[in-house]
Amino acid sequence: MIVVLSKGISTHDKEMVRIYLHDRGFSVREQSFGDDAIIGASGKGVVDIHELSILPGVERVAATSKPYELASRETRSEDTIVTVGASASQMGVKIGGSRITVIAGPCAVESREQIMETAALVRESGAVMLRGGAYKPRTSPYSFQGLGMQGLEYMKAAGEANGMPTVTEVVSPDLAVQMKDLIDMFQIGARNMQNYELLKKVGSLGKPVLLKRGPSATIEEWLLSAEYLLASGTKDVVLCERGIRTFETYTRNTLDISAIPVVKELSHLPVIVDPSHAVGIRAKVAPAALAAIAAGAAGLTLEVHPRPDEALSDGPQSLYPEQFEKLMRDIEALSPVVGKELLRTPRPHHWTADRARTGQAGQGDGGSLEAGSEAADGKAGRIAFSGERGAFAEQALMRAFGDDAPRLAVSDFPAVFDAVLDGSAIAGVVPVENSLAGSVHENYDLFLRYPDISIVGELKLRVRHCLIAHERADIDSINIVRSHPQGFAQCREFLNRHPDWTLEPCNNTAAAVASIAREGAVKVAAIAAEAAARAFNLKVLREGIETNPLNYTRFVIISRRIGERAPVPPSLGSDKPNKASLVFSVPDEPGSLFVCLKILSERGINLSKLESRPIQGQPWEYMFYVDVIIPQTEELFEQVVDELKVKTKDFHFLGTYRASL
Ligand code: PEP
Ligand code: MN
Repeated sequence: MIVVLSKGISTHDKEMVRIYLHDRGFSVREQSFGDDAIIGASGKGVVDIHELSILPGVERVAATSKPYELASRETRSEDTIVTVGASASQMGVKIGGSRITVIAGPCAVESREQIMETAALVRESGAVMLRGGAYKPRTSPYSFQGLGMQGLEYMKAAGEANGMPTVTEVVSPDLAVQMKDLIDMFQIGARNMQNYELLKKVGSLGKPVLLKRGPSATIEEWLLSAEYLLASGTKDVVLCERGIRTFETYTRNTLDISAIPVVKELSHLPVIVDPSHAVGIRAKVAPAALAAIAAGAAGLTLEVHPRPDEALSDGPQSLYPEQFEKLMRDIEALSPVVGKELLRTPRPHHWTADRARTGQAGQGDGGSLEAGSEAADGKAGRIAFSGERGAFAEQALMRAFGDDAPRLAVSDFPAVFDAVLDGSAIAGVVPVENSLAGSVHENYDLFLRYPDISIVGELKLRVRHCLIAHERADIDSINIVRSHPQGFAQCREFLNRHPDWTLEPCNNTAAAVASIAREGAVKVAAIAAEAAARAFNLKVLREGIETNPLNYTRFVIISRRIGERAPVPPSLGSDKPNKASLVFSVPDEPGSLFVCLKILSERGINLSKLESRPIQGQPWEYMFYVDVIIPQTEELFEQVVDELKVKTKDFHFLGTYRASL
């Protein structure tokens, strides 16, 4: 049982709670958990929960039905997001939430050159953390045992050179203390999952821990090991499924895919998967990795070696660099299907530095997106979006900038552009196109009205609609449904099955949810994202009610142009832009559009979008929206743009950015 204490509880009241529990047969321990101070009570004591919950200084009592309390979803309903490697100068890497985090590296650190080479190549393919063993628990005492502390020094250097936090296995409590300052995350290996003295020591050091599942551990035993870590003091535990021992011997272990959704229901801790040790066969790693992502894993840890045939350990399951590169692309393409985005390596330089170079001084912002850099007024580094909490645009924002990114919610699209222009937000997120409903013309028109705003990034979000209602409502009590008209249109088949429901349109889907939360109505439901239900503590009555599941919205990230270019936030990645958006009109004469398209065609430039739109106030005149894939040679593209400017009437360059898959 967990007793969550009120913020600012007096020492006296806290002592009274302890005595109360102790007198009733519990052993008590006090610790912090997330932002909360809590008292954990265990043992066979008997207590009147109501009486306990009204003691002074008690915020709430969570009586869990599970033997693991701190790890249990019953104690904490929100997903835990673990940050690894954060410091004054580093943002850190997040595991959990809406992102897919990929850790990669060799099984063992073999030499300085080998870990340096591997780190650089896995980073190039998009891995955000580096793995590698320096103390290897090998089945045979005669196999390579690792380079020990020297190996950790090499790995630290490789991690720092590539901006990647490191994770490595710890095999004894004494070593844990010695290793602490050389690494960013401890790994508890499968063989040590139930080494409780090790768990207690590692947990007490306060660093994030990757806890592998023992080869013959049940899910409950695994979560109890996580409980040991949490009870010893660390808050940051990531669970790692790496295959269990079954009667099947073809693969090294049997990957327990179903453990992923089960653990996600039982625990708030993020769960990632190690397909390398699960299957033990290089060619089977990628399918197992994709299956893990499809089943809801928050990330992967993968063994990659520059020359697997020469590896000193686990060569047969280590991926060749090209295989890893291909797998990362496949993960990137799969992620939106499960409502997530692959977290790629951030840019090595900082957003603040970028801003300083372009000379922009925003009003009221520090211009920084780095963790902990928020100014005292809480307005620094905000990203603007239109809508309420839980809106699809807010989800897109969190994907691009991180779950904790400071946000500015505004009432409509022009307000997003205004906020970016006047510096009250350093960037903004707006939708431009839906895969079913087409372009969001209002935003295209706004680009023409705001020539100082440029597109610097894009991302695609899967739109999954839910029917959301009050906690006490059920589907039979509903007679009114609220949503944005797009929400109704996209769930037409579902709504057709309920012809007696009255549809009430709202400004946006999240506003529909907010209105139900405000009114407490039990006869009203909303069609919106699951995130909106969570944001307003409402219940999801039905999920995935959209007619067509291939429903994506493309959002763009906007920034203020300074001279020729607009600064790109680091979280958008360091890859060279490969896409550009242009808007132009053409002279009213035969073949004028053809002339423009010919310029593109002759240079082999691929169009990814071409759409015409009436010009406001000029009946029967049209602007063309064009997205093109930029060729490798930048000079060629510059020439094309110069030629287009001559052949078109009103040419607007909306920006260059990295295409989202
Ligand atoms: C490893 O990750 O290198 C390792 C030894 O894994 P496991 O403990 O899962 O066997
Ligand atoms: Mn290994």
